[in-house]
Amino acid sequence: MSPTDLIPPLYREGASRIASALGEVNNILVAGHADPDGDAIGAAAAAGHISRFLGKKFMLYSRTGLPRSLAFLSLPGVVYSSLEHSPFSPCGAVLLDCNEAHRLDQELTHYLPKLVTINVDHHPGKGMGTSANWIFPQAAATSQLVAYVALHLGIPLSGALADAVAVGLITDTGGFRHNNTDADVLRLTAHLVETGCNISLLRDFLENDWSLERLRLWATLMSRVRLERDNTVAFCFAMADDLRKNHCLKEDLEGFVEHLRRLRGVRVAALLLETSQGTCKFSLRSAETSNAFAMASALGGGGHINAAGGTLRLAPEQAENVLLAAICGQLDEEKIS
Ligand code: 5GP
Ligand code: MN
Repeated sequence: MSPTDLIPPLYREGASRIASALGEVNNILVAGHADPDGDAIGAAAAAGHISRFLGKKFMLYSRTGLPRSLAFLSLPGVVYSSLEHSPFSPCGAVLLDCNEAHRLDQELTHYLPKLVTINVDHHPGKGMGTSANWIFPQAAATSQLVAYVALHLGIPLSGALADAVAVGLITDTGGFRHNNTDADVLRLTAHLVETGCNISLLRDFLENDWSLERLRLWATLMSRVRLERDNTVAFCFAMADDLRKNHCLKEDLEGFVEHLRRLRGVRVAALLLETSQGTCKFSLRSAETSNAFAMASALGGGGHINAAGGTLRLAPEQAENVLLAAICGQLDEEKIS
């Protein structure tokens, strides 16, 4: 079997279109969404490796840098946290794991109209690329799409490129547990393993690097979890002060909401985080047949059917009421009791 056979038929047209569009740009800025997770960084790193392979000038960009949990990843270049000191004047942008301008770092949103853009994402949406869009919600991760672009170009998925793709896959499938872990994901992962990628070592780096402060923060928050709507909804809030007092960052809450789904009978788990005064971010996880995406989009957010989120410009108490009403409204519509 040749590596291009690993690109499932449904993905071939998109992979080929993005490969051609990449061929036409140079001086490329590569970025994921603001507050990047493992898939945004994995996809951006993979796109950087591809650009390097193609002999393109590129720069990785993230206003907030890398989350600490991803510091182990071998990147194809430094991550620039400002466009003021960029090594060249970008002509093109490859935007990953995000297809809405408001989810990019604000500095980049302002700069974007100057750039020819290629947009690759697996969130539903129409795309914001001016040169090419590949918006493919069936994909488990944006890193999966970028991997297919590499395969289309004949670039071997090995070494740091394979690790970057694997980190994206591990992050967005919850370590190959979520229902997006389909045969295509497993085939691609098997190929990564064959080329030398050590999945369990990557998972060890990603999952077993907690500070004691993080553990203590989780303990505080866990003690606050409550059940709503006849025990079908688990809810928790975290105030900005909770993070400050425990010397933690937003990224220390990554994965917290998933645990609330473990409660017997719970269909939807919700975490509300006060990110600044008058602004809260929410994270939702739902059981397979409940639509967290519908709940989040009713509040201006988005995501996927079983994992979604958004931002509410409200004080925590009001945000809590609005969020619970949206969750219960959707569950009532689904006739979940
Ligand atoms: P998380 O709860 O882990 O932050 O996000 C869960 C899913 O929802 C991810 O796919 C993430 O990209 C998406 N998501 C989170 N916040 C927002 C948002 O404000 N807008 C949109 N469109 N998607 C979001
Ligand atoms: Mn993703």
